[in-house]
Amino acid sequence: MNLLIMGLPGAGKGTQAAKIVENFKVAHISTGDMFRAAMANQTEMGLLAKSYIDKGELVPDNVTNGIVKERLAQADIKESGFLLDGFPRTIDQAHALDEILEELGIKLDGVINIEVDPNSLLERLSGRIIHRETGETFHKVFNPPVDYKEEDYYQREDDKPETVKRRLDVNIAQGEPILAHYRQMNLVHDIQGNQDINDVFTDIKKVLEKLK
Ligand code: ADP
Ligand code: AMP
Repeated sequence: MNLLIMGLPGAGKGTQAAKIVENFKVAHISTGDMFRAAMANQTEMGLLAKSYIDKGELVPDNVTNGIVKERLAQADIKESGFLLDGFPRTIDQAHALDEILEELGIKLDGVINIEVDPNSLLERLSGRIIHRETGETFHKVFNPPVDYKEEDYYQREDDKPETVKRRLDVNIAQGEPILAHYRQMNLVHDIQGNQDINDVFTDIKKVLEKLK
């Protein structure tokens, strides 16, 4: 299965992606994770990405399209399928993805769109914590880790309130035309994201079982 997962920052894309990957064995491609890895390794691309990410802005399309194309062209993708998380985030990226997939002879099977009340996002993002060792995402209140030890977790730099507001504005402005693009192709499955994490996954699973 070749899938996209969409939703505003904090909608639960990463949380649900982990469950989808575990259950359906598709490759998880998160542009945010790729940028964070490049930043941690202080590569040239990582340093460039950091200058945008720290301000809550989008990394330029030519850079982002390039890393996605490179990853989708790898041999495992045709075997396992993929779940793209955090891409496309602009309509130009959506058009670039159409071209990349056509070139590679890959067909998109569905777009999971997690809908949430924007008012709940600030609370979700400000409480988000990431496990240092595994990269797994939790929430201090909504999804607390068992045996929580503060030193084992970190908060994302771009989850600080000053940056979150800009990220939400940017993503709200860019998101609608992308969804319209995929609605026209009859690929979008809307999922109610304002429910318990496991209930969101139950709804996603129903959709994916039919697509499989
Ligand atoms: P995204 O990848 O869309 O930015 P995440 O999956 O990282 O979002 O989720 C953002 C935060 O909200 C995390 O701290 C996560 O644990 C929490 N979260 C995810 N889904 C839910 C949910 N359905 N209800 C409450 N909190 C959630
Ligand atoms: P995420 O982990 O998906 O919330 O992404 C974190 C940050 O990485 C975003 O706020 C952007 O600055 C950058 N980023 C991730 N994906 C993209 C993308 N498709 N296009 C541009 N920037 C991106």
